[in-house]
Amino acid sequence: MVAEKIYIKPATADEAISMAYAHKDDFCYLAGGTDVLVNKYQGNKECNCLIDITGIAEMKQVTVTESHVKIGALVRLDDLAKHLILQDHFPTLLVAAREVASPMLRKTATIGGNVLCENRCSFYNQSEWWREAVGYCLKCDGDVCIATGGKKACFSKFVSDTAPVLISASAQLEIADIDGTHFADLESIYTGDGIQPRNLPETALILNIILPLGHDFRIVFKKLRPRLAVDFTSLTTAVSADKHGNLRMVIGGVDPKPVLIKGRTDGNKVDYIKSALQKTRVVDNDFYSRKYRRDMIRVFLEQSFEELFS
Ligand SMILES: Cc1cc2nc3c(=O)[nH]c(=O)nc-3n(C[C@H](O)[C@H](O)[C@H](O)COP(=O)(O)OP(=O)(O)OC[C@H]3O[C@@H](n4cnc5c(N)ncnc54)[C@H](O)[C@@H]3O)c2cc1C
Repeated sequence: MVAEKIYIKPATADEAISMAYAHKDDFCYLAGGTDVLVNKYQGNKECNCLIDITGIAEMKQVTVTESHVKIGALVRLDDLAKHLILQDHFPTLLVAAREVASPMLRKTATIGGNVLCENRCSFYNQSEWWREAVGYCLKCDGDVCIATGGKKACFSKFVSDTAPVLISASAQLEIADIDGTHFADLESIYTGDGIQPRNLPETALILNIILPLGHDFRIVFKKLRPRLAVDFTSLTTAVSADKHGNLRMVIGGVDPKPVLIKGRTDGNKVDYIKSALQKTRVVDNDFYSRKYRRDMIRVFLEQSFEELFS
């Protein structure tokens, strides 16, 4: 029997979560849909119930208090990239938002969807026919990881371009679920397992992204990709220094999760780069070779330190 296809559009976060519970194991929250729908039509991820959250007004605001900036998860990347208050406090976040995809996609894509977009791999993001021809990979119906020549672990890469900047600025998420609302550091939701890249409960809804004020973050963002538009990242780095002497280095686009290295602004930069290379698992699952992307981690971090401290 063919399963019934359902599309629902709640008006509040509470309603969305109740609907998610009612359709547990077979639903997907739909924000801009630029990731969900591509994965659905390529047969990477199926769900029969789409819960369109774009009617939830409470998730579309940017608010500022003395201690923080709160960005609603449904703020579109194009609006974020032009936001005057965010430009004053976190200009590098706007730079990162402008580096996502293409102008048309940014008019639809949201910041919440961006931090939760699915991991990618050159053996996973292919048509059904292509994947069948190579025998399917571990992330999608197969037994082993093809990119690594047969390992029993998935190394699909984390591709959000805004998340590294947000993590470098100590962002937190406000997460709602059936039992209430809680806060979590953004980096804590990523598992490092390419098959299940996030540890959020299935029905959890991100309401807001919260950035602390008063740290005077200076952030350098870099992205490697074949073309300057549309292409997903092959390596994204964000390095921040704050007024307390803290240094946060975040590496995305290579490992299954964003890799965070914490240090001090007067610490040994050579050691930080060594640590970044040790912690970051890079495999041949991208347009560029593993070796080149590893070499570029060093180059991007060195350039970032130079820009921050010279
Ligand atoms: C051609 C192309 C190029 C792209 N290039 C880039 C790129 O360069 N950089 C990049 O980072 N991304 C890129 N993307 C991926 C994607 O467009 C973006 O990540 C986008 O920001 C996703 O946002 P969305 O609102 O469309 O998410 P959706 O597709 O609606 O959702 C993505 C995921 O998040 C979940 N979700 C969304 N909002 C919430 C919420 N509030 N609470 C709980 N779950 C939620 C959905 O259920 C889904 O699992 C590209 C996509 C395409 C098609």
